[in-house]
Amino acid sequence: MPQPAGVKVEKHCFPVDVRSRRAAAIVPVFLPFSGCPGRCVYCAQDRQTGAHAVRLPVILEEAGRRVEAFSSGDCELAFYGGTFTALDAYERQICLDFLDRMRECGLVRCARCSTRPDALSGTVLDEVRKHGLSLIELGVQSFDSSALARSRRGYDGKTALQSCRAVRKAGFELGIQLLPGMPGSTPELFLRDVDMALAEEPSCLRFYPCLVPEGTVLARWYREGNYRPWPMNETVDTLGRALASAWAAGVPVIRLAVAPEAAFDTSLLAGPRHPALGAMVQARALLHTVECLMREQGGQAVHLELPARCQGFFYGDRGILRRHWERLGLGKDKVAFTSAECGSLYLTS
Ligand code: SF4
Repeated sequence: MPQPAGVKVEKHCFPVDVRSRRAAAIVPVFLPFSGCPGRCVYCAQDRQTGAHAVRLPVILEEAGRRVEAFSSGDCELAFYGGTFTALDAYERQICLDFLDRMRECGLVRCARCSTRPDALSGTVLDEVRKHGLSLIELGVQSFDSSALARSRRGYDGKTALQSCRAVRKAGFELGIQLLPGMPGSTPELFLRDVDMALAEEPSCLRFYPCLVPEGTVLARWYREGNYRPWPMNETVDTLGRALASAWAAGVPVIRLAVAPEAAFDTSLLAGPRHPALGAMVQARALLHTVECLMREQGGQAVHLELPARCQGFFYGDRGILRRHWERLGLGKDKVAFTSAECGSLYLTS
């Protein structure tokens, strides 16, 4: 690293892209709308998961094939797409028996499910824990009661918070899903939700920017002019800040957008959807992290080192962030990609 003569330089390390410590791969078992008390205004799980109208035995058979493809056994089974803890008892038993078989064969290391904050009975939590489920992802969406009411979620912020605590108290790892841009939400409110989620010490977060799929109540509200999705710029900037907060707290964010699915994408009326959204958000998070560090520490940027995996997204979509980095004094010649796990910023002191 070139060092200006007679100038003292200090190195500041910062976390980038926190990785989950659970299994190497998640094998999802999608159970669209199973156990849900109704259809949430924005939800199109059937299109989103591509598992529309498929019977449970067929879903599990297909999941078994995908699990067997991971011969290492280092995979995690994940029951997604509905409200697992409110599933019909018979169907839940079939799923848990399947999980038992996969674990006994050494094909699955651990398991998780997603559910609603208002669907956590102590009896069901005991039951799923006995079968080896160790992480529960809560579709919290927001901790703000007015946004939850506007989105007709059917519970309030207090229930959302209490359910996070109940999951951890019952001995599970906690995952929290948030829905930036949901009706009634604002960037400020979402960033507050992220702070509240991080305070609950989750094992992972997911951010699903709110989209407008055809056939939902949200599509009607959108057509009536009663809902406006967040623009792309605002989404990328806000999620970038949120991701930077999660990195700083050491919490992995395991999704930054709904996974690509042809039937879902063709049904979208509006919303911040972009194939490179995750990379764009990571680039923003990196820029935000370095900007904050420079503001806190003062001094001038001399050099920046980043893990090699950041190289692909560093300058953002079509190099849009290049001028921002140059403005910080970090032109191309002052940035290096290395084998380190963390970032290092060298500042004059
Ligand atoms: S958002 Fe969750 S609870 Fe609501 S319908 Fe979709 S899967 Fe069910």
